Amino acid sequence: MTAGEAGRPPAALELRIPGFGEVRERLARAAVRAVGEGWALELAVLGLRRGGAGRVFAEGAPGAPAAAGAALILAPTLPASLRAAEEARREGIPHVVVDPDADGGSVVSVPAGAPCYACGRAHASARRPLLPAGAPLAWLAAEELLLLLAFAGEIGGRRIELRRGALTAAATSRLAGCACAAGAG
Ligand SMILES: [Zn+2]
Repeated sequence: MTAGEAGRPPAALELRIPGFGEVRERLARAAVRAVGEGWALELAVLGLRRGGAGRVFAEGAPGAPAAAGAALILAPTLPASLRAAEEARREGIPHVVVDPDADGGSVVSVPAGAPCYACGRAHASARRPLLPAGAPLAWLAAEELLLLLAFAGEIGGRRIELRRGALTAAATSRLAGCACAAGAG
């Protein structure tokens, strides 16, 4: 066995998992819009790329595709998050939004047609600075979006919260009268 072959076992193992090739192809075809700025968003983008997402581009970047298939939102303010999430909802694409809150925070997953971010976000969040919990939240957001891309139509909306070092996940629910009840648009 050459040194090059010795580096291949992970790929060989992947091929033995039934259906995994399809998932990889689906991820490779994905075009993800990254909304926000800063190191935490860069970490999330790195996570998406390592997980197999084919194209990840910054909002408004030169050469960015006209349409995205998903969005990862790590915006600096709540209004910016709400705006970006509403845009993604109207486009009918899955999106994940990070709400940092200093030593905790949350990640809201919104598959197409699920309760929107405005409905599903942690309404008590003070949205304090990113550190120290920003890094794990960024990785978590990347994983959540990879899941939505890989298993579209099979996963419901949920919010994962990080509080005092513990993660909890709960399905999101729609607020009465929200426009997201009518679907995209
Ligand atoms: Zn809603």
